[in-house]
Amino acid sequence: MTVSNPSVIAQVYAFIIGACFGSFLNVCIVRWPRERSIIRPPSRCPQCGNQLAWFENVPILSWVALRGRCRCCDEPISVMYPLVELVVACGWLLAVHHYGFTFTAIRIAIFGTTLLGVAMTDAKHYLIPDGFTLFGLVFALVTSVVAFFRGETLVFASPYNALVGACAGAGMIAIVGWIGEVATKREAMGLGDVTLMAFVGAALGPTRALITVFLGATLGAIAFAVVVIPITLLRRGQVREQTELALGSTPFEAPLVPFGVFLAPAALLTLFWGDALLAWLTRA
Ligand SMILES: [Zn+2]
Repeated sequence: MTVSNPSVIAQVYAFIIGACFGSFLNVCIVRWPRERSIIRPPSRCPQCGNQLAWFENVPILSWVALRGRCRCCDEPISVMYPLVELVVACGWLLAVHHYGFTFTAIRIAIFGTTLLGVAMTDAKHYLIPDGFTLFGLVFALVTSVVAFFRGETLVFASPYNALVGACAGAGMIAIVGWIGEVATKREAMGLGDVTLMAFVGAALGPTRALITVFLGATLGAIAFAVVVIPITLLRRGQVREQTELALGSTPFEAPLVPFGVFLAPAALLTLFWGDALLAWLTRA
């Protein structure tokens, strides 16, 4: 269901709403891993604690206007803040550009925004806050019912498939994690990956949840082979002596991989191209 040519105003509006959601996402990314409230206190400079005035809190623009520095203490403000706002704003713009200002477009935009939060906190802190996955699960289930009654049933799973998908997604990743644990003799996957796949399964349904796990594992394996192993091998020489002192021996221990970093983009890719990928993989 592609609505042709939503007006320019609608697209600008989508960009602005997206930037605001990106700003809120920044708050979640910073505060949830530290188990702090996302409502209070209002945003402050992490360096000097100066409470931000409204004009210092405008998504993207404030960072540019302040040239990336705090107005109070002149310490640099991370470029990640405006980047997240920009990425989410562009995501919302693309969703509305493609699907018009529809319920489906808003579902896609919020799905993608939540997944970005998951990927960023997992990359940064090796954890996936329940705030993202629990919100995502409830959002996916509720909107599947609303979409069913509105007749907008494309892209996301039907209410029945959402329920089955949540269980299938969580179950599949738990099995993968268990096998990984047996194979590597250590914890391979956190509970955050299980709740993430419950959320993703509720959005995509059981078949595409399976594709997401497959695609996420593939992306993770590629990143592991290309980036993580060479770095680890390079560092190994330096670390070996210390580890030998501490443990007496040095079994090669693979570094922990934040699987959510790969599952999140895999889920978004699968939302759009999962069916095409399945058709390609199972072609006669
Ligand atoms: Zn400051």
